[in-house]
Amino acid sequence: EESYKRINETDDQIQAFLTLDEENAREQAKALDEAEVDANQFPLFGMPIGIKDNIVTKGLRTTCASQILSNLDDPLYDATVIQKLNDAKSVNIGKLNMDEFAMGSSTENSSMKTTRNPWNTDYVPGGSSGGSAASVAAGQVPFALGSDTGGSVRQPASYCGVVGMKPTYGRVSRFGLVAFASSLDQIGPITRTVEDNARILEVISGQDQMDSTSANVDVPKYSEALTGDVKGLKIAVPKEYFREGVDENVQAKVKEALKVLEEQGAEWDEVSLPHSKYAVATYYMIASSEASANLARFDGVRYGKRSEKAKDMMEMFNLSRSEGFGEEVKRRIMLGTFALSSGYYDAYYKKAQQVRTLIKQDFDQIFEEYDVVIGPTAPTTAFKVGEKIEDPLTMYANDIITIPVNLAGVPGISVPCGFHPENNMPIGLQIIGKHFDESTVYQVAHAYE
Ligand code: GLN
Repeated sequence: EESYKRINETDDQIQAFLTLDEENAREQAKALDEAEVDANQFPLFGMPIGIKDNIVTKGLRTTCASQILSNLDDPLYDATVIQKLNDAKSVNIGKLNMDEFAMGSSTENSSMKTTRNPWNTDYVPGGSSGGSAASVAAGQVPFALGSDTGGSVRQPASYCGVVGMKPTYGRVSRFGLVAFASSLDQIGPITRTVEDNARILEVISGQDQMDSTSANVDVPKYSEALTGDVKGLKIAVPKEYFREGVDENVQAKVKEALKVLEEQGAEWDEVSLPHSKYAVATYYMIASSEASANLARFDGVRYGKRSEKAKDMMEMFNLSRSEGFGEEVKRRIMLGTFALSSGYYDAYYKKAQQVRTLIKQDFDQIFEEYDVVIGPTAPTTAFKVGEKIEDPLTMYANDIITIPVNLAGVPGISVPCGFHPENNMPIGLQIIGKHFDESTVYQVAHAYE
């Protein structure tokens, strides 16, 4: 009830939700109230949660904020993460706005509505999980799920002053997450505190038969890593994350955060991740190539909308896709199709894969000596609605510090570390860990927080 009350009070301004599941949620909550079970046996008993609209929910509209799926009112199954949340007895409040098919950094690419940053509604909430971050920041739900392909959990968490985790690739099942770039996508929790975040990840992690890329690695109790102790821990601080283009006030706040950790007994050194500068170009080749293949399934036949103007089969494909996809999605499909076409494959796609390996090796090397890597989450704070939407390249450059983490497959979290003195918008601190070592990432984030 509190959740829906808060949504009623605030969502006219914030515009975070695309679909509310009020009747169902009330029924579920009532059943939990009346159930004669020990609530302590269920880690999320009765907790309201919001879900990014690219995670499939049985019987509940799932659109990816795209016109092509705007009539997908009755999906046939639940994503694995949704099943796991149901088993933990949380209550799904509804589906949250995003950039269409998770392509974007501001949620302005949604074909449905423009979500606003709760700290100042002139500003974007970040993206692509902007609805999830804004909803948590506005106090509508205590937790939300997002997805992160190149920063889409961490960057909006940073812009909205909340906590967002991208787990190790393979940690969380992608079954039922509508695929954007399958070798990069991971689902992650957005919450108000590090402890909440650890508790949600405990629930949604683990190997899944339905996703062959989910890893057979034990899931530790992340919440037990929150000791508050970071004595002797070794932090690497890449100089590339503090270069031009990264706002000086953002740099200053991150340095202050490092001091806090130093006072608690952690040690830090400046290091180099020399291939970081190629990350944005590499990512946009790989992500667009994978997207062009993944989005081939939206053809007017199997899912979603079919053009009413089509007179024959070819027109059905062409018009359904022309009418159904927005501009950014089309741009990515064209870029990806080009990069994969014969004659260009070696020069673009294959080259990008090779550089991806170099970027991963940069991290491998640093992690031989250090426990975590720390830097800003994004080069700036949130920007104003409309400010960058006409300029895709500036928008892409915004992902410069989050993208290497997806390319390497390692986990990364964003935690709030203060406000920008000029626009008063939140700043995010990014903590990056070794493969499958989310525990240390949470440990450091919690000690700082
Ligand atoms: N902003 C990046 C992009 O547009 C990342 C998106 C994401 O992580 N889903 O591709």
